[in-house]
Amino acid sequence: MDIQKAVREAGVVGAGGAGFPTHVKLESKVDYVLANGAECEPLLHKDAELTETYVDQVIRGMEISMEATGATEAIFGIKGKRKKTVAALEEATASKGIKIQLFGDYYPAGDEFVLVYECIGRLIPAGGIPLQVGAVVHNSETLYNMAEAMDGRPVTEKILTVAGEVKTAMSMAVPVGITLQEVIDIAGGATTPDYTVFVGGLMMGKIVQDLSQPVTKTTGGLIVLPTDHRLVQRVLTPNKAMHRIGKSACDQCSYCTEFCPRYLLGYDVQPHKVMRTLGFTASGKHNWSKWADLCCSCGLCTLYSCPEDLFPKEACDQAVADRKEADMDRWLGPSAELKAHPMEPGRHVPITALMQKLGVKNYDRPAPWHAINYEARKVTLPLRQHLGAPAEAVVNVGDQVRKGQLIAEIPEGKLAARIHSSIEGAVTAVNGAITIEQ
Ligand code: SF4
Ligand code: SF4
Repeated sequence: MDIQKAVREAGVVGAGGAGFPTHVKLESKVDYVLANGAECEPLLHKDAELTETYVDQVIRGMEISMEATGATEAIFGIKGKRKKTVAALEEATASKGIKIQLFGDYYPAGDEFVLVYECIGRLIPAGGIPLQVGAVVHNSETLYNMAEAMDGRPVTEKILTVAGEVKTAMSMAVPVGITLQEVIDIAGGATTPDYTVFVGGLMMGKIVQDLSQPVTKTTGGLIVLPTDHRLVQRVLTPNKAMHRIGKSACDQCSYCTEFCPRYLLGYDVQPHKVMRTLGFTASGKHNWSKWADLCCSCGLCTLYSCPEDLFPKEACDQAVADRKEADMDRWLGPSAELKAHPMEPGRHVPITALMQKLGVKNYDRPAPWHAINYEARKVTLPLRQHLGAPAEAVVNVGDQVRKGQLIAEIPEGKLAARIHSSIEGAVTAVNGAITIEQ
């Protein structure tokens, strides 16, 4: 069967967070297929657990991607600390010529720019994509979904970890469209009465206060923390207060820049210079904001590097937004050839040190795979769960649908992904999302 067609029909998207439609990635011709199994967000384990449990399907996904893209080499990037998963990978790849690249336990090893550099020693051009250095990168779960697609099974489940203040930290597959509260309940419920939920990770995820929100194809994991936890309070600081504090307290020590993973790879990101914009009320602000343009919002500067607990990442987010609004060209840095900083390998931030700083070391425990087979009564499936245009509903209120049935199609000529029902039931609403109830 045509690989690209099967992956397109199954609605596969990048499951690592961005949600880029995978069938479009498979149009490229590349030298390398890289698997991103680095999973560097503290407390999340779902990629390692999935890979260990379904290693043959994940490796099959790599072979499928190689066939589609014409790649002659494949490398699976994973942290050396995932010993059981690495052993499973070694066995599954023994006769297949797929290399396993072991990373140290640091953050953000899973950043695409870092991963590509670690695996093949090539630096993606500033503002560019892996294709420009002959590589395509897929998250482990995306590879699994590609193999499922070739067997005619569309994406109806999401793999995630739930951790923190829950009875049982676990990794599992749940129907796309169930609520965040249901996920917490599956894990035995929260173990603290007043809790707050990070969706997608502590570093790059966000706090979601409405737990009736649905799990989507890109929901990475849930971390439950007590609401009075220092990290929750820090993340909930209003932007205005973040910027006011930064304006008065930043001493320009430049630690935020010195530990920035993108700066260390040679990109012209300099958050300490961006911090200066907080003091500008007249001209010049946009020019100093340019040192935020290549920031990937990894959060390291705000949550680890700054000795004064300021918010350089948020200053960068603001700077990028301001320059976009002013319609300014993206700053890609001086045109000289990219070269990683000589201190790059020595300044990797160990996950243990990061967890210590975040105050989550006490939640660092395994989240083993649970085959839960959850029977959902109701699901809500947003029409946009991917990068690009929303999908177009092809069902109406009152229709009966089967699990796996197509319910929303890619609009003609647009970048998007198909959506399938994750349960059997009746369509009860069609607006920005399709609701299905048993
Ligand atoms: S690390 Fe903190 S104090 Fe130092 S320059 Fe950056 S924002 Fe300012
Ligand atoms: S969030 Fe901070 S550390 Fe991360 S890329 Fe941006 S500037 Fe660098």
